[in-house]
Amino acid sequence: MIPIEKVRQRAEADARTYGYFLNPDPEFLKDLLEGLQRNEERYGYPSCPCRIASGKLEPDRDIICPCDYRDPDVAEYGTCYCALYMRKDLYEGKTPIVPIPERRPPEKQARAYAVSPEATTSATVGEGAKLKTGAQPAELKKQLWYCKQCGYVVFREDPPYICPICKAKREMFAPIELTAKG
Ligand code: SF4
Repeated sequence: MIPIEKVRQRAEADARTYGYFLNPDPEFLKDLLEGLQRNEERYGYPSCPCRIASGKLEPDRDIICPCDYRDPDVAEYGTCYCALYMRKDLYEGKTPIVPIPERRPPEKQARAYAVSPEATTSATVGEGAKLKTGAQPAELKKQLWYCKQCGYVVFREDPPYICPICKAKREMFAPIELTAKG
């Protein structure tokens, strides 16, 4: 078990190096750090707690925290996709935190989904949370989850630790029950 304090210290040191701040909400921060901790234990590297990982290093390399998209997202929106790292003005509450679009290229997401034993479907928020469906899984312990706060939909075994769209906590996710007609 990787100590959560080690995960925290690593994030704090990285934030200091780049002049960022960690999310000031203690509970929210704890959820993100635990997500990183769990992903590191599961995959051997701390993949992003807001994104579906393939479990294979090469396709996941760009989403190992801090991901390739952190710096451009902080520069443009003030936070990273998960709102773990942020600029000072957002940390101090002078600028509101807003949902930010996924910067990870769709082809990289698709590549990860193609080899993932865990994830085959992603969703975008919009009219009716349109689903983009990938290859079907061999075994289906996974299910659809939706965020009760913003409607984001994801297909996986467990809901994400943090909603990547509205930053709601895992508790805000509920399963979508599918019933066959006919
Ligand atoms: S979005 Fe934030 S938490 Fe997720 S990998 Fe990037 S830097 Fe880490």
